[in-house]
Amino acid sequence: MSLKQALRARLGTTAGGGDFAARRGAQRREAAAAERKRKAAAQRDRVNQRVAGVRQRERARADARVAAARKKKPARRPARPGHDYRRCRDHDCERAACAAYRDGIAYGLELAAVAESRS
Ligand SMILES: [Zn+2]
Repeated sequence: MSLKQALRARLGTTAGGGDFAARRGAQRREAAAAERKRKAAAQRDRVNQRVAGVRQRERARADARVAAARKKKPARRPARPGHDYRRCRDHDCERAACAAYRDGIAYGLELAAVAESRS
């Protein structure tokens, strides 16, 4: 056994089995665990940011779509066709306009009949 080999063997036994080596190993494992943790956190952050960006773009697109639809469509619905008193065929319709129109026509016919009988 050469001197070099003897020294290596001695160093190996002291570095491998001693209290210092155990503490150094624990420290290294802790550091490695912390590094892994830090890297995982960074990766999570990156993924979260990417997802947030995608969500934001989706929201912006949806907002733009909604805004375009609102702009295109009139705000209020078109008024439904009203009840036209001139076209009302219901002789008992109680709407004021229909009743007045009916009365007016009856009165006019009455006047016409009177005028006819006088001439
Ligand atoms: Zn009517």
